[in-house]
Amino acid sequence: MNYTIAVIPGDGIGPEVMEETKKVLEAVGRKFGHQFAFQTVLAGGAAIDAFGECLPQNTIDVAKSADAVLLGAVGGPKWDALPGEQRPEKALLRLRKELGLYANIRPAKVFSDLADASPLRPEIIGKGLDIVIVRELTGGIYFGKRGHVETEFGEAAYDVEQYSVGEIRRISRTAFEMARKRRGIVSSVDKANVLESSRLWRKTVNEVAEDYPDVTLNHFYVDNASMQLIRDPRQFDVILTSNLFGDILSDEASQITGSIGMLPSASLTDGNFGMYEPVHGSAPDIAGTGKANPLATILSAAMMLRYTLNLPEEADAIENAVDRFLAAGFRTADLSGGAPDALSTKETGDRVAAMI
Ligand code: ATP
Ligand code: MG
Repeated sequence: MNYTIAVIPGDGIGPEVMEETKKVLEAVGRKFGHQFAFQTVLAGGAAIDAFGECLPQNTIDVAKSADAVLLGAVGGPKWDALPGEQRPEKALLRLRKELGLYANIRPAKVFSDLADASPLRPEIIGKGLDIVIVRELTGGIYFGKRGHVETEFGEAAYDVEQYSVGEIRRISRTAFEMARKRRGIVSSVDKANVLESSRLWRKTVNEVAEDYPDVTLNHFYVDNASMQLIRDPRQFDVILTSNLFGDILSDEASQITGSIGMLPSASLTDGNFGMYEPVHGSAPDIAGTGKANPLATILSAAMMLRYTLNLPEEADAIENAVDRFLAAGFRTADLSGGAPDALSTKETGDRVAAMI
């Protein structure tokens, strides 16, 4: 089959890790008989430098017409002085909105060969850890009404948390569908003992669950969930939660793995379309040094094959190649504490592509 992928390399290490990811996708194409046509477009700082705006219309058009979007990372100190509206990071927020991406998917996985990197004790991690956080991305307190009022104690400010049944239903379905492809457990996280919006969240999730009798559903208050993530993370499979709670819990979960250079992510909409990117940023401190770990972006491409292009065997081929790369003892600088024999970005891409 032929697939068109909109590729947004971005800034800093973004273009470096993207180069290796394309290499790995091409290897997958050769093995399984697919053609991946990469349409490279600019966003973030690179677009500001070239066109004077962080998200050119052409980038939006190409992203919309592609089968999926692959993104490196945007931003860096060069553009730090720009006013908020013009900053590189705005490109991502606007692109998510343009593409209607309402579900953010962040796996937190501890690879058994990298269990040492986790700050948690071996008996807690066991043979590895594999959680997915499904975070609602376009509603909740980040998009609610906000403002300032005068009170008897002086100036006050407020932000409103609001969720509709429709918004909760669609993100719940994403989580239940994902659980079906995994270990079949959804843990919904809210604060229903205090918040009215959380009570509607819980009621709606329970209703959606009726369509998924094969999936086990449990509910956690967010304070308990954040504690359980450290105490016994292996009880979780898919965590379903709101924009605010998901923002916090996914950063917590990423630190449990200890390997920011290994974590992929996806932002999805209805009908499987999605944008895929590493969890890490543009890492300006190591850009141009060949030290960037491309595996987070390579694993993001695997998620793209699995969730948007519906190519599970091809996705497995990438994930298995990364497993074998690690099992063979290969390490990038971030995974080896800077050991002299650490592999460069390019050597890593070459080896993983060869292992496909
Ligand atoms: P952002 O605001 O875009 O999230 P950040 O400064 O919070 O950026 P990163 O850019 O992810 O975070 O960088 C955090 C640290 O992790 C940096 O020291 C960076 O060098 C390191 N790092 C991030 N990604 C990688 C990678 N792929 N390989 C190696 N090191 C990385
Ligand atoms: Mg950051």
